Amino acid sequence: MKIHQIIEKTRANGPGTRFCIWVQGCSLQCLGCFNPETHDFDAGYKISVADIFEIIRRDSKELDGISISGGEPLDQAEDVLELISKVKKELKLSIILWTGYDLHELMDFEIYKSFTEYLDLIITGRYEQSLHAPEGLKGSSNQQYIFVSDIYNENDLKEISIAEIQLGDKKIKITGVGSEIVKGWFE
Ligand code: SF4
Repeated sequence: MKIHQIIEKTRANGPGTRFCIWVQGCSLQCLGCFNPETHDFDAGYKISVADIFEIIRRDSKELDGISISGGEPLDQAEDVLELISKVKKELKLSIILWTGYDLHELMDFEIYKSFTEYLDLIITGRYEQSLHAPEGLKGSSNQQYIFVSDIYNENDLKEISIAEIQLGDKKIKITGVGSEIVKGWFE
């Protein structure tokens, strides 16, 4: 997989404590995207599905689930499918995924039906700058929640912090749907 960044434990990218992956590469290029450094397919780093699964497995007892954002996960759909199927079958964790495609477009992906076997919640739709309104797990008000399983409902998403600050060794990391700077370690 081509990855932009991983945060091994976050509480601002879905309900509970989650392992969050930002994939690298996005073919959709929404105007005003708050994560433009994830767009370039040549940036980021490669990690095998087996290796990323092993990192998740190691801490899985402390996790409620995983979240996959980007970048555009559908741009590397085969790898994402392999990962989410292993996480669901072997670790029984909940899985949330953001995609810039809307539901109508997703139906055109042959692989989408397989995705729905493993995902619990999908946040769909391009980020629309004119509709900017971070709330729950949406960055703009046109985006939609698709509750694939009954694990979560809209109330579960209302209390999620829109930003989270993590302190590391002489570094600070800011993450969350409403954090417009972000996604990295600041020395
Ligand atoms: S909001 Fe998502 S789909 Fe849109 S350009 Fe940014 S990473 Fe790509």
